[in-house]
Order: sequence, then structure tokens, then C-alpha cells
Amino acid sequence: LRVARDGRQWSWHDGEMLSETEQKVELLADLETALECGDVWLAYQPKWDLARDRLDGVEALARWTHSERGDISAATFVPILEASGKIGTFTLHIIKSALIDLAEWHASDPDLHCSVNISAKLLTDARFVEKAILAVDEAPIENSCVVFEITESAALAEIEQSIEALERIKAAGIAISIDDYGTGQSTMSYLQRLPAAEIKIDQSFVRTIEHDSANRIMVGSTIQMAQALGLRVVGEGIEDQRCLDILKEFGCDVGQGWHISKPLTAADFVANWLRPDGQLSA
Ligand code: C2E
Ligand code: MG
Ligand code: MG
Ligand code: MG
Repeated sequence: LRVARDGRQWSWHDGEMLSETEQKVELLADLETALECGDVWLAYQPKWDLARDRLDGVEALARWTHSERGDISAATFVPILEASGKIGTFTLHIIKSALIDLAEWHASDPDLHCSVNISAKLLTDARFVEKAILAVDEAPIENSCVVFEITESAALAEIEQSIEALERIKAAGIAISIDDYGTGQSTMSYLQRLPAAEIKIDQSFVRTIEHDSANRIMVGSTIQMAQALGLRVVGEGIEDQRCLDILKEFGCDVGQGWHISKPLTAADFVANWLRPDGQLSA
């Protein structure tokens, strides 16, 4: 039997559906081959400094180019890696790849910083945390140019242990960002306990800001609250100029989204964005 993939559902050739577990086992086997073959790569999405109108940094986003399904987002395969216990090894691989690119780009722009996404789950893995810090320590760059974006796919279960891990990461000079702010349990009460430098307001709030006045109020007050706590605020999912203008009016520090740039290959990022003065032409 061969597995046919119609892009959404995975089914046996005779039409019999694979169980969810079987699908995940299949995908995981493919993914392991992909990691060995270099079919998993990093796209880079620019972050725009809204106050100074210049490039702020980049976020590394993992992509898997599947022979039959095309590019697969990490949102699809990261949960499978989390469930199979392979997420730590995968993430270390991602961190090291991003550090190699960043070190190269620093020859043109020594201030450029790079964000990598780290599953909140990994904060309870002490060996992972040590290895991740060591990888950044060993890279020939300032640790402060690296940002760990903590992505909450599940609730932060071991809150105390997670905060301890974040404190170690911060002590190593690596910046911490809270991703998808507003969607998880990253509420105000524990935001002040996290040693974060930045929050990223989730795109579900930002994208609708123009037409949804309730969202506009929430985004505006979140920016004020976070900045009062000393945090930098990034607005994610900016898809048009009006949205960018509103965030700017609100004093949002940084913007990210398709209107600024889609995630790019490393080569396209270098060709179109990396300038000695960090300025974007046109
Ligand atoms: P994220 O970290 O919140 O990244 C933002 C996602 O929104 C990216 O999707 C990006 O391509 C997309 N995006 C950016 N601008 C816009 C916009 O203007 N409009 C819309 N509609 N979308 C926009 P992507 O690359 O599919 O990544 C999805 C999620 O997968 C990420 O969300 C992150 O949580 C996770 N992820 C990505 N790479 C990694 C990784 O290396 N490790 C881990 N653990 N998670 C990763
Ligand atoms: Mg992110
Ligand atoms: Mg270093
Ligand atoms: Mg996000």
C-alpha cells in the first residue's frame, strides 16, 4: 500500500483513511528523512522598527519542503515533534542554522538581531536549555543579538521551572520574547513575572484592527501596559498600510507582516534587505 496525500487528508490508496496516529507516524518518518536530507530550511521574515523606520531584525521560521505536499509550515510539524520527544534536537538544529546565517550577516549589519521560535514545552527540559545557551555562547556573535521567542502551543505547565529556565536564558544575555501574546494563558498576571524583553501581539488581534474597534482598544491598551512594564511591543500580521499606520499611532515599537515583507529565503533576504546601513531602499 502506498500513501496518497491530497493535501489535506492522508489516505490509503484504496481510500481507507489513516488514523490520526498513523498519519503522525508517517509524517514523523518523512520528517526524519527530511532533516537528514536538508529539506527543512529557514525562511526569514524582517521585523520593522516603526519609530526609526528601519530594519529591526529577522525572525527565523522553519519550513519543510515535502516532495509531494510542497512547503509545510512548522505549525503543522512542530506538534508532532513535540509529541514524539524530538523537538529538542530539532530546535537545536534550527538555532545553530540561524546562528550561522546571522554571523555571516553581521559582516554587513553588526546590529542585526535574529529571533528563533522555542516551544514553551522545552523550558522544562534542563538539558535542552543548557545546550541552547551553549550554542549561542559558542557562536561568534554577541548573545544579545539572539532572541528566543517563546511559543505557547500548550499551557505553560511547570510555571516555576519555566521561569527558572527563562532566568538562565536571560542571564546568558539572550533576549526573551513572548510570542502570540493574547491567545494563550500569557495574561497580565504572569507577564510581570516573566523575564521577557518583548511581547508579540498575536496577528488575530492586529489583522482586524482597522474594522474591529474592540480589538483596536485591546491592542492599544496592551501596548501601553507592556511598555509601562518596560517591554518592547511587536505587532504581528500587518497586511496593509492602514494597519501599520494605526500601530504606529499607538506607539507600537516594531511591526511584522506581509505588508512589510513575507518570509524570505536567506538569499532573498540578503539581496533585498541586508544593507550596510540597515536601511530599506524605495
Ligand atoms: P509565529 O512565530 O507567530 O510566526 C508568525 C507566522 O505568521 C508565520 O507562519 C508567518 O509566516 C506568518 N505571517 C507573517 N506575517 C503574516 C501576515 O501578515 N499575515 C498572515 N496571515 N500571516 C503572516 P509560519 O511560518 O507558518 O509559522 C507558524 C508558526 O510555527 C510560528 O508562528 C511559530 O509558532 C511556529 N514555528 C515556526 N518555526 C518554528 C521553529 O523553528 N520552532 C518552533 N518550535 N516553532 C516554529
Ligand atoms: Mg514567532
Ligand atoms: Mg556568543
Ligand atoms: Mg506569533
